[in-house]
Amino acid sequence: MTGNNSPIIGIDLGTSNSAVSWFSEDAARLIAAAGEGRLTPSVVGLDDEGQLLIGEAAKARLVSHPHLTVASFKRYMGTEKIFTLGDKSFRAEELSALVLRKLKTDAEVALGCVITRAAITVPAYFNDAQRKAVKAAGLMAGLEVERLLNEPTAAALAYGLADSREQKFLVFDLGGGTFDVSIVDMFEGVIEVRASSGDAWLGGDDFTEALRQWMLSRYPQLTLDNPELAASLTRQAESLKQQLSGQDLASASLTYGGEEYRWELNEATFQECCSGLLSRLKKPVVQALQDAQFDASQLDSVILVGGATRMPLVRQLVTRMFGRFPRNELNPDEVVALGAGVQAGLIAEDRALDDLVLTDVMPYSLGIEVARRHGDRIEEGFFSPLIERNAFVPVSVMQSFSTVNDNQRQIDIEVYQGESRKVSDNLLLDSMSVKVPARKAGEVSVDVRFTYTLDGILEVECKVSGEQTASTMIIEKAPGTLSQEEIALRLKQLDALKQHPRDIPENRQLAAEAAKRYEQTLGDRRQIIDHYATQFEQALERQDLRLIAAARDELRRVLDQLNDGL
Ligand code: ADP
Ligand code: MG
Repeated sequence: MTGNNSPIIGIDLGTSNSAVSWFSEDAARLIAAAGEGRLTPSVVGLDDEGQLLIGEAAKARLVSHPHLTVASFKRYMGTEKIFTLGDKSFRAEELSALVLRKLKTDAEVALGCVITRAAITVPAYFNDAQRKAVKAAGLMAGLEVERLLNEPTAAALAYGLADSREQKFLVFDLGGGTFDVSIVDMFEGVIEVRASSGDAWLGGDDFTEALRQWMLSRYPQLTLDNPELAASLTRQAESLKQQLSGQDLASASLTYGGEEYRWELNEATFQECCSGLLSRLKKPVVQALQDAQFDASQLDSVILVGGATRMPLVRQLVTRMFGRFPRNELNPDEVVALGAGVQAGLIAEDRALDDLVLTDVMPYSLGIEVARRHGDRIEEGFFSPLIERNAFVPVSVMQSFSTVNDNQRQIDIEVYQGESRKVSDNLLLDSMSVKVPARKAGEVSVDVRFTYTLDGILEVECKVSGEQTASTMIIEKAPGTLSQEEIALRLKQLDALKQHPRDIPENRQLAAEAAKRYEQTLGDRRQIIDHYATQFEQALERQDLRLIAAARDELRRVLDQLNDGL
């Protein structure tokens, strides 16, 4: 990498809390600022003199100075939303930059050196714009973002699962305001996020709110009209919730208008208050398993992440849902930051792509706009995905498209990201035009190939049938962060991918061998070969490298067994 010897830090930039870690003596460790906890609230505020406050100091004033304090801005990363604090205004990425800068400075003080590089985690579902915003926030904070790492992948690294045998596990991440479920698969040192699902508006804070409503229901004379009262009710509700994570009975009190109000809460009542929230935790789990085509019984473990999984009610629900105890040896609100530290260690040793290959899945689909012909009518604006959500990265896929008009002279390739049938609801990434010979509609075809790398570079290649050269366009996830040479190098490494898998020598040879063995054998054996050879062919057609590897191993094994049997 670079000749810079200062440590790389790992950062969990969370919606509610952020944390920073580094890798030393074979383990990732969290770094705390002197006199502060290991979690830094992702809160920014102004004090009475107009000076910036970040973290705990800002959070303490969330109650007393709501107009001078902002929280939960991570939700708005990648948007143009403006947050106003007194006479200053900020975008979400600037607020995030302030938090990142504090973490960087805290780490510099604790470690006694200048830090310029970081690995930062992002939710697996973050789209291109959101990821760019995180990188931009890093730059504004004076950090070169060496790697954006998916949060569930970080959790897997923290648990050291990459060092063990093949595993499939589910990361159940319930933070302050968001719920993320990811299914991660690990084999031979390869970590893959197979599917992710969740609820962007469900988290520990909703449990606090449910308790606040319960507190109000006990004393109808209390209302939320008074902001100070509303804020101290929130604080008391949060305290009730946290007390129940360690004991059976919780109590809270506050004084208002000269009167004292008291509450006592047990787990049964808490469960009643939040039964609706608890049941909302189930659907994303089912969805993620479905997307990954897994059965809960195939999971080796379930990992709890996020401060809200400290609630015994949530742990019980997870245990019941999966019929086993989830893993929780590490503090759930520190797991992601620890994993970022492991990643930072790997980058420092330049090992990330050798000993431990990290692959991920596409968090969204990528495709192009196509027109459809209905009789005489041509309807435009349809999305035709080439790389689908949850496909493994790196990946390269080719599809052919034909002209829809007679004598059409050019084809416009517009690249979109998203899941909607109509491109108008998806995000336009870039476009290019290729000249085509004037012929009748449907007589000219172009092969469009999408190649997506681990660094988030999308190469789009278009080749008009009958022509030798292809037109190419490169779309970077965060433009400008890689030099032209680096991009060229990364794409060169992926050249092998660009062959159709059925043309790769290893696959061609095996298919030929199977065909020959089929000719040589009869009866049952012939049927067995046919079965596995067909599976292999189907995998090749789907251009799914992982399926291909699995089908190839099976076919190889069957052919070897038949050889031995002769
Ligand atoms: P995020 O990933 O959203 O930044 P965290 O993982 O830090 O957030 O989780 C924050 C949430 O965890 C908050 O809703 C907080 O109330 C909750 N939480 C923290 N500690 C406890 C506890 N001991 N018991 C119950 N909930 C807790
Ligand atoms: Mg989190």
